[in-house]
Amino acid sequence: MAHTGSVASIPMDELRALVNKEVHQVMIENSKADIMSGTSNHKYPPIKKLPEGQALRILVTGGSGFVGSHLVDRLMTAGHHVIVIDNMFTGRQRNIIQWLGHPNFQLIIHDVIEPIMLEVDQIYHLACPASPPHYQYNPIKTIKTSTEGTLNMLGLAKRVQARMLLTSTSEVYGDPEVHPQKETYWGNVNPIGPRACYDEGKRVAETMMYAYESQANVEVRVARIFNTFGPRMHPNDGRVVSNFIIQALQGKDITIYGNGLQTRSFQYVDDLVEGLIRLMNGPYSLPVNLGNPDEYTVKDFATLIKGLTNSNSTIKMLPATKDDPRQRKPDITLAKERINWQPRVPVREGLTKTIEYFRKELEESGEIVPTGPNAARPQQHKSKGVFKDKSDSRKKH
Ligand code: NAD
Ligand code: UDP
Repeated sequence: MAHTGSVASIPMDELRALVNKEVHQVMIENSKADIMSGTSNHKYPPIKKLPEGQALRILVTGGSGFVGSHLVDRLMTAGHHVIVIDNMFTGRQRNIIQWLGHPNFQLIIHDVIEPIMLEVDQIYHLACPASPPHYQYNPIKTIKTSTEGTLNMLGLAKRVQARMLLTSTSEVYGDPEVHPQKETYWGNVNPIGPRACYDEGKRVAETMMYAYESQANVEVRVARIFNTFGPRMHPNDGRVVSNFIIQALQGKDITIYGNGLQTRSFQYVDDLVEGLIRLMNGPYSLPVNLGNPDEYTVKDFATLIKGLTNSNSTIKMLPATKDDPRQRKPDITLAKERINWQPRVPVREGLTKTIEYFRKELEESGEIVPTGPNAARPQQHKSKGVFKDKSDSRKKH
């Protein structure tokens, strides 16, 4: 093929990125065309019809990820217009396939570290990998996502006067010396450890939110989210809930890192989404913990999953990971008082639904090899074969 002057002048990696973007766009357009021409059996979930002027234009960054896609479902069902921007690093198109082609919905394949010009009323800024092996796979990119990505979204919020909510994390408390953790606790984070790219990234993202609030009058909301689980978790994300369930369902060893006495508190995703929407639409602008105070040692959690799945797996202790927080439990007094929120779904009930989801994933994939504790690239495709563990892969993109 003859090279035209304009193509030849584009550096190869830029050209590749452009082609990839085009291919993604064509794939999406094709699915839309199938849906709209009726060649797919797709039926949209029912949505509320809001009176003129009440439907908001809402941007959800990271909207094809685990939490983001549930949030999108709630916002779409409520009758709003939703734009998702996502680079599909850990997001999956199947999480939002139910809305592709809907007139109220748009998916833009875009990386938040690049600026974008949109017209919106609210921004839920979720874009950022959340599982330790995934955010540690390319720590520089994780830092850029939390810093440059958040700056870009704040710039957008400032320009169009949109209210913006950041999904921060309990990781801002690091390995906490205060228990349970209140929003007033400043945290205990190792700034140069393996979790720092995520923890410090989120801490500075919070700092940016309040700088834009005080200096540029942007309306900000900050949710400090504690461990959340539910359907649509990435089967290869290597987090404790997904790993234990996948291991238990396949009769493989349930892998505990360390002595299993470290604690976590687990909330079901529907509760989190309710909290995010309440926080966004309420008047309170300082950080708010969103989590379920139901606290488990990792060891007890392994036994619980083993019981709920009727599994004959063996519980196996592996070496502890570096800087693994020893305890974590939210104090949710503020959420109760300020946004009238508390979790409603008991952990066991949420786990039952999540186990069902993973059972179906396993039926489709044949086998899933859970991701280990090391940095790992998320697996993007699935087949009838094995969902492979690439935890030794260090290739950067
Ligand atoms: P996830 O990995 O499933 O979703 C993150 C989404 O962001 C994915 O769709 C991914 O492709 C996208 N993304 C990542 N980097 C991007 C970039 N540079 N540009 C555009 N899109 C990008 O994770 P999740 O569990 O759904 O978490 C969502 C948010 O909630 C994250 O900000 C996370 O830090 C926060 N959070 C989650 C938990 C939890 O337990 N799930 C706990 C604390 C905080
Ligand atoms: N964990 C574990 N086995 C696994 C995955 C995780 O013992 O297969 C432990 C991990 O060391 C941590 C806890 O479970 O103590 C929660 O880990 P997760 O990756 O889910 O999230 P974190 O809260 O550490 O960000």
